[in-house]
Amino acid sequence: MSAYDQNNIFAKILRGEIPNDTVYEDDHVLAFNDIAPQAPIHILVIPKGAYVSIDDFGANASADEIKAFHAAIAKIIEQKNLKTDGFRVISNTGRHGGQEVPHYHAHILAGKKLGPMLSA
Ligand code: AMP
Repeated sequence: MSAYDQNNIFAKILRGEIPNDTVYEDDHVLAFNDIAPQAPIHILVIPKGAYVSIDDFGANASADEIKAFHAAIAKIIEQKNLKTDGFRVISNTGRHGGQEVPHYHAHILAGKKLGPMLSA
């Protein structure tokens, strides 16, 4: 795993250097609308700590951070009323996973039938 890059775009968002369309925030987590939505609802959930990926987060984050991250997703699902029709959570990781921003994030996608899990 590569070292955390302090200049990645989500680090800049967390430092307030780039604006974001915030959906949810607490001490450990920020969630905001994706700038290029792939579904009617497309929210990015990120930890405030410097973690590159889901495996970095799982291995190195504190229990409080890990709990807060999943609790935040649950709150957003509730807030956006996504339980009835469902949603998808994706975390692209590394080169094969197609990760563009090297700060751990979960995509919440919803608002229409999302189709097959993978295409080509
Ligand atoms: P990934 O390919 O999983 O790393 O996803 C990165 C996501 O970040 C993409 O869906 C981008 O559209 C999104 N993104 C990039 N820059 C911004 C930004 N400034 N504000 C909101 N979303 C962004």
